[in-house]
Amino acid sequence: MHRIVIVGGGVAGLSAAWELLGDPQGPPADLEVIVLESSDRVGGKLRRHPVAGHLVDVGAEAMLATRPEAAVLVAEIGGGDAIVTPATMAASVYSRGDLHPLPPGTLMGIPADPAAAAGLLTDEEVDRAADEHVVAPLTGDVSVGAYVADALGEAVVDRLVEPLLGGVYAGQARALSLAATLPGVYAAASAGRSLLATARAFTPPPRSESDHAPGGSAPRAPFIGLRGGVGHLPGLIADAVRARGGVVRTRVTVTELDRAGSGWGVLVSTATGTETITADAVVLAVPAAVAHDLLERHTASAAEALARIETASVAVVTFAFETGEMPPLTGSGFLVPPVEGRSVKASTFSSQKWRWLAELSPDLTYVRASLGRFGDEADLLLPDEDLVDLAFDDLTAILGVTLPEPVDFHVQRWENGLPQYAVGHLGTVATIRAAMAAVPGVELAGASYLGVGIPAVIASGREAARNALVTLGLRD
Ligand SMILES: Cc1cc2nc3c(=O)[nH]c(=O)nc-3n(C[C@H](O)[C@H](O)[C@H](O)COP(=O)(O)OP(=O)(O)OC[C@H]3O[C@@H](n4cnc5c(N)ncnc54)[C@H](O)[C@@H]3O)c2cc1C
Repeated sequence: MHRIVIVGGGVAGLSAAWELLGDPQGPPADLEVIVLESSDRVGGKLRRHPVAGHLVDVGAEAMLATRPEAAVLVAEIGGGDAIVTPATMAASVYSRGDLHPLPPGTLMGIPADPAAAAGLLTDEEVDRAADEHVVAPLTGDVSVGAYVADALGEAVVDRLVEPLLGGVYAGQARALSLAATLPGVYAAASAGRSLLATARAFTPPPRSESDHAPGGSAPRAPFIGLRGGVGHLPGLIADAVRARGGVVRTRVTVTELDRAGSGWGVLVSTATGTETITADAVVLAVPAAVAHDLLERHTASAAEALARIETASVAVVTFAFETGEMPPLTGSGFLVPPVEGRSVKASTFSSQKWRWLAELSPDLTYVRASLGRFGDEADLLLPDEDLVDLAFDDLTAILGVTLPEPVDFHVQRWENGLPQYAVGHLGTVATIRAAMAAVPGVELAGASYLGVGIPAVIASGREAARNALVTLGLRD
């Protein structure tokens, strides 16, 4: 009998557990899988909370569909019928006091055709972007902002790349790594290719969006969601894991890892005291800071590199308004570049974006606003009531409308919620990986390493689980 303990019940940890137990032929008879989650629920940054009587996502709310991992996992656990595509993906960017449609054909804000950004950019800024300065082949990592500004001008960074990158990482374009956040662009830039040509090559032709992606098959929209919210996913995976004999425990905090023979002793603290769970292998599917604390005694170089991965804190304020009192909203929401000096960095018109939500509660219109980004977190020190007022005032000003009093609202804080892939991040990850040779049987997974999006996190969990099986000699 082998036991694998997974620390962290977010998407990475649950995906790792499913990888271990989800074999279509049935779970291995000689494997015990235990997921330990410190909070009172599984899911980590995927979370639903009732607002005006309905459960809505207050963390992640969409999954990239150009990578297959999320749709594949959902289909494997029997949730394929719940996959939906957004009713609209037409986002706007707030620039110089007005909302402008996000130009079609942008790659993380890099326009394939600068002329399409006219209005959002001034004529001079469009001309500068069109007159690309092809940058000499890169010989090492640079920030996205530095590279794009050299090629297309500062305005493309300030008004397009910042809001798009900010929407994913809550980070700053001039600090985030090109190699880690846009590997395809980095590869092209290393070969000295034109950035505009790269953006054109990476930008898909216009798509027709269908409502439901057939279970498991490749959806046509660039993003998918789940009916009921993506916050439904962790519970579905946990149920599937339990159905295969896995154990998922909540309110169990792992405080220490100790060597125990050829395996590990996992020291945990619960409401009733402490206990040690022995394991043949351990998957640490926790944020880098927690992995740092658990590994510090065992590998100083991994710990030092883990400590280099910084995080951004954000808050999501969700409003429910009476639909009958709402002015019309256009598209799926908007993004706000930091140069605009607003507190709200992005807003999603959830009831417009997700048909299931509009059908669930036609009388209510849900709008969410995100605040905070790396290096700009002062607003998050405010108490909830002030944060709600700030979000409401910014929404009103940006939309240029009078919004009704909300029927209900909710504040979800995500302290240290998003890892920052700073310049050199891939080198940091390589250092961590190499150093982990000193702790055989311990694997790392999660958003801190090679992708913060849900599909990437699923991939990291599954890979860590496979590596654990290989270490135990249970898989080639
Ligand atoms: C506001 C917000 C919006 C986002 N929106 C999207 C989106 O729309 N689409 C998308 O693809 N991605 C989105 N993301 C990113 C994505 O949600 C996360 O990167 C991903 O969910 C991280 O999963 P994880 O399992 O790596 O980590 P986490 O979700 O952080 O899970 C780690 C788990 O470990 C637990 N834990 C920590 N310490 C211990 C311990 N000592 N013992 C036991 N358990 C412990 C934690 O409680 C937590 O549950 C968003 C993130 C945020 C913050």
